[in-house]
Amino acid sequence: MSVLFANGLVLDGLGDVAVEGWVHVEGERIVATGRGQPRPHLAQRTVDLAGRTIMPGLIDTHVHLAGGDYFPGYEHEAIGIAALRTAEAARRTLLAGFTTVRTAASRDFLDLDIRDAIRLGLAPGPRIIGSGRGITCTGGHLHEVAIEADGPDEIRKAVRQHVKRGVDSLKIMMSGGVATAGLPVEAEQFSVEEVRTAVYEAHRVGMKVLTHSIGLQAIRNAIEGGVDSIDHGQYLDEECAVRMRERGIYLVPTFGPFYYYTEMRKAEDWRIQRAEGIKDQHQRAFRLALDAGVSVAMGSDCGAPSRFPNGENALELTLMVRHGMPPSHAVRCATSEAARLAGVLDQVGSLESGKLADLIVVDGNPLEDISVLQHKIQLVMKGGTLYRDDLV
Ligand SMILES: [Zn+2]
Repeated sequence: MSVLFANGLVLDGLGDVAVEGWVHVEGERIVATGRGQPRPHLAQRTVDLAGRTIMPGLIDTHVHLAGGDYFPGYEHEAIGIAALRTAEAARRTLLAGFTTVRTAASRDFLDLDIRDAIRLGLAPGPRIIGSGRGITCTGGHLHEVAIEADGPDEIRKAVRQHVKRGVDSLKIMMSGGVATAGLPVEAEQFSVEEVRTAVYEAHRVGMKVLTHSIGLQAIRNAIEGGVDSIDHGQYLDEECAVRMRERGIYLVPTFGPFYYYTEMRKAEDWRIQRAEGIKDQHQRAFRLALDAGVSVAMGSDCGAPSRFPNGENALELTLMVRHGMPPSHAVRCATSEAARLAGVLDQVGSLESGKLADLIVVDGNPLEDISVLQHKIQLVMKGGTLYRDDLV
């Protein structure tokens, strides 16, 4: 199928401005893009964008699809039902304009199974970079779903179990978290030696390491251990921000769950209180990272461990803008920057000839109003296949 998208604004995922232009897709790839009026193409279909914006499919670097959205005891539900919930959440995510996601701790490796089912054409969903169950210490954050490991030897084994099961990346829990009762939120879980072991084992096979890191010592240990992203990062200080910039370590702020806890107040009191306790610090850390020039990628933390439903991922972009990021930067955080962090920038994350035709059309201009990405997605194409098309 050959499709020409013309007469609209093109936001390529790399630059900070949208330009009048066109995008030509042949089969599964983008074959040409240009400014102004399109050259005559022999496209089978021309989509008249009529002033709408075409941009790369969105990428979320921190989601929890497995088991769907939160409900009490989700981690104990029968696996068959949980698998169907996972498939439904994946479909919702794709139709919301997210053509690639990276998972961050999933019960029973369900993220890998839905990844493979999507590849086999059994279910619609985004491209999935799967992190499997993730690794925590005994009784640590998300121990209900993650593999528990203590000391370098057990961690080495746990990473290798993940590799054996077929993960694409690795998630380690560096500190307590809001969602796990009874543990101090800030307390670090792994030593530098333990993190280094995990990172060595992951990097050895070409996998990136994402972390759940809230407290300052947890963030320090993660940076020292050589991880690729600090996710959450509430207690980030200036010294850590400088080291992250120097080492190219990303911050993935994940404001979404905090919006659900502290503004929607959709959680138990203990969770809301824990979230309230670190909310201001979260916003401070984000501004500090922006000022220090730390690379940022979008990660929503949607799904079962939080209260933030799958498919509402783009709320995260609105929150990043609310907390001080220019809309153009936020768009790059969910396109080229996210692709770079996830290690897939050679295939997706920008509208460039030769890349996979993962793209969306949105009514309006996200640079003028970032929230159009939450509510006004009108077309979703992944690998040249249309999954949503409200323009026909
Ligand atoms: Zn998470």
